[in-house]
Amino acid sequence: MFKTLHKFFGYTNFLPLQEAIIRDVLDRKDLLVLMPTGGGKSLCYQLPALLFDGLTVVVSPLIALMKDQVDGLISNGISAAYINSSLSYAEISKIMGMIEQGDVKILYLAPERLMVPGFLEFLKGLPISLFAVDEAHCISEWGHDFRPEYRQLKALKDNFHGTPLIALTATATRDVQDDIARQLKIPQGARYQASFNRKNLYYRIEPKVNPYQQLLKHLEGRKKESGIIYCQSRKMVDSLSSSLQESGYRAIPYHAGLTTEERDKNQDRFIKDDAEIIVATIAFGMGIDKPNVRYIIHYDLPKNLEGYYQETGRAGRDGLPGDCILFFSYGDKVKIEYFIGQKEDQRDRDISYQKLRKLIDYCEGNTCRRKVLLAYFGEDFDEPNCGRCDICLEPREKFDGTVAAQKILSCVYRLGRGFGINHVIDILMGARNKKVIQNNHHTLTTYGIGKEYSKDQWQSIARELVYLEFLDMEGDKYPILRLNDKSKGVLSEGEKVFLTKPAMEPQKLHGNVDDAFDRELFEILRTLRKRLADEEGVPPYIIFPDTTLKEMATYYPNDSLSLSNISGVGEKKLQRYGDIFLNTVTEYCRAKGIKPKQTITKWPPPIHKSLSKELKTSTLRMTLEFCNKGMTLEKMAEKRGLAVSTVSSHIEKLILSGEDISIDRFVRWEKQEIITKAIGDPGTAALKPIKEILGDDFSYEEIRLVRAKMLSEKNGAGTLKPSR
Ligand code: ADP
Ligand code: ZN
Repeated sequence: MFKTLHKFFGYTNFLPLQEAIIRDVLDRKDLLVLMPTGGGKSLCYQLPALLFDGLTVVVSPLIALMKDQVDGLISNGISAAYINSSLSYAEISKIMGMIEQGDVKILYLAPERLMVPGFLEFLKGLPISLFAVDEAHCISEWGHDFRPEYRQLKALKDNFHGTPLIALTATATRDVQDDIARQLKIPQGARYQASFNRKNLYYRIEPKVNPYQQLLKHLEGRKKESGIIYCQSRKMVDSLSSSLQESGYRAIPYHAGLTTEERDKNQDRFIKDDAEIIVATIAFGMGIDKPNVRYIIHYDLPKNLEGYYQETGRAGRDGLPGDCILFFSYGDKVKIEYFIGQKEDQRDRDISYQKLRKLIDYCEGNTCRRKVLLAYFGEDFDEPNCGRCDICLEPREKFDGTVAAQKILSCVYRLGRGFGINHVIDILMGARNKKVIQNNHHTLTTYGIGKEYSKDQWQSIARELVYLEFLDMEGDKYPILRLNDKSKGVLSEGEKVFLTKPAMEPQKLHGNVDDAFDRELFEILRTLRKRLADEEGVPPYIIFPDTTLKEMATYYPNDSLSLSNISGVGEKKLQRYGDIFLNTVTEYCRAKGIKPKQTITKWPPPIHKSLSKELKTSTLRMTLEFCNKGMTLEKMAEKRGLAVSTVSSHIEKLILSGEDISIDRFVRWEKQEIITKAIGDPGTAALKPIKEILGDDFSYEEIRLVRAKMLSEKNGAGTLKPSR
C-alpha cells in the first residue's frame, strides 16, 4: 500500500482516515465516506484500484471533471479512461475494446451510461473489483444537489452483488447519509466521517461599506494567486469583472447568462492559470477541481451556511492556506429576504428564512467562525482559539469612540463638499500630499489632529461609523462621505458612540504568512510548469501541484533521488519531468550559489513534511507541551478530549519530525524489544499485520510509537528537522 502510494502518487503519508478506509476497501467492504473537499477522497478508491486485479468503475456526475481526473491518473502512469456523452460512438467503442483487453484499470462513468441498453450487460462480462460512487449525495432527493440519473445506481448492488462499493461525498447530513446507504443498498456498510474542519482556511467577515476598495485591498500583492469572487447577480458579476480588469487584474466573469461556450472558455482559462480571478454567481464551482485557489471572497451575502461552506470550501484544496472573506451588509440581507418572499411554497419560504437567520447570526456573532460553522453541521469544535478566523485573531473589544467619531465627522463637515474616506484620513493624519496641498486642506483646523491611530485603524473606525449609520457613503466606485441626521447627534448633542477597538496591527490576511520557500525559484518553476502544461494542453496542476513546486523551492533537489522524495513526484512524473525540473533547479542554484539542502530522507521517508506547518496549528503543539510535562497517553487524551490513538499519532509525527521524545514512558522496555523484532524493517511495516502477530497484549499505540522510534533512529543524523 505504501509502496504504491509512493510509486504512483509520489506521497509518503496518508491524509487522515485514508489508510483505514483503503484497508477496508482492500478487505472488500462496502463503505460510506464523508470527507470535506480537499480531504483526499479520490485516493480512497484510486489506490485500491491499483492493488486489485480487475477493473474499478467510478461513477461521477461531473463530465468536466472526469477528463481532468483521467488526465491526472494517466500523468501518474495509471491506465484510466472515461465514458460519457462528450465522446463519439467510435471513441466509446474503442475504449470498450481496451477495457475488454484488460488495458484499463480505472474507468469513469457518467451515471446515465448505466441506462444505455446493453451497457450493464457489457459491465457484467468484466472482472470488476470495485465500484466507487463519487458525489454520492446526488442520489438523495433530500440533498442539495439531487440528480435523477443517480437513481440508476440502485441497480449496481442488485447486478453486482459481491462487488464492494464505496460511496463518497463532501456534504451529507445524517438523513442524507442514511438515504445514500439505503438507496445504494449498502445499509451495513461502515461509515467514515472525517472532520469537516478545514484547518487551512481563514474565515473573516467584514462590514461591507466600500466593497470595491475593500476588495482591492485584499487583492493587493496577490496578482499571481487564483481566487474566486462570488456575487449575487449577473449584472454585478459583469461590472465587477470589468472594473477589476481596469484595475489591472486578469479577472473574468462566469454566470448562467453567458453562453455555454463562453462559460467553458472562462472556466478553462481559470483552470489553466490564464486568468487569476473568476468573478461568478454561485453557478460556478461544481465542476472545478482546481487545487490552488487561494481566496474566496463573498462580495455579496451567500444564501445560507451550506452554500457558504461549499463555496469557501473551494479554497485551499491542496492544503495550503486559503482566505475566505465575506462582506456583510444589511442591504444584502434585505435583498435575500425579498427573493425568499417571492417563493411560492410557504414551507420552502419558512426554511429559507430560518437558514438566512443562521447565516446572519454567523456573520454578526462574536464566536469563533469555525466553531459556529462546524456546529451547524453537527460537529463540536472545542479548541479555545482556532487561530484562523477574525474572531480568534482579533478579539473585539468595544471602546468609547466618541472622540474618534467626532474627529472624522467634523473633518467631513469642514470639507464642505464630499470627499472620500482616504482623503479624510489623510487630513486627520496630517499627510502632505498633492491633493491635500492643492485643496489647501492643510490649513483646516482638523488637519493633523488624528495621529493616535494608524491609517488602517482610521479605516476601520470610519467603516464602522458608516455601518452604524453615523455617516453616509454615496457612490459606487469612488464613494464620498456625507453627514446625516445621526452625525449631528454626535457632533453637537454629545451623543456617545461605541465602536469596536480597531486592531493594533494592520489587518493582514493570512494567506502567505508561514511560507518559507524561495519565491524566485517558485516563480521560475511555475513558468516552466505553465509552458509544459500548455504544450500538453492540460491544466498546470496536472503536471505538479503548487505544493510540489514549493517543496522544490525549499529543498533544491539536485538528483533524481532527492527529487523523488518531494511530495507529489511519483515514478512516472520523475521519468517524464524529472530532468527538466532538475536542470532548472540546478541552473538556478549554480547562478545563485545555493547548495541543495541535505535534508531529504530516503524512501521510505518517515518525515512528515508538512509538519512545520502543522506545528503551528495548536493541536500538535499542545500535545508536545503536555508530553514535555510528562503526562501519560491516557492523561493527554483525556485532557484534550481526543482518542488515545490520535494522541499517539501526534507523538509519532513529532518523533518523526525530529522532536526528541523518549517513548520509554509510553511503552515498557521489554515490550519495545518484542515489538522491534516483530517490526523488522520499520520502513515497510504497516501496523495491522504486526498487531496480528503480537496479539492482544500489545496495542496499536505501542506499535506505532516503537515504529516511529525505529524510523527516527534509522534516519539518524540526516533527519529533517523542520524549522520553527
Ligand atoms: P477531495 O476529492 O476529497 O476534495 P482530492 O481527492 O481532490 O480531495 O484530494 C485533495 C488534494 O489532496 C489533492 O490535491 C490530492 O492530490 C491531495 N492528496 C490526496 N491524498 C494525499 C496524500 N496522501 N498526501 C498528500 N496529498 C494528498
Ligand atoms: Zn476561530
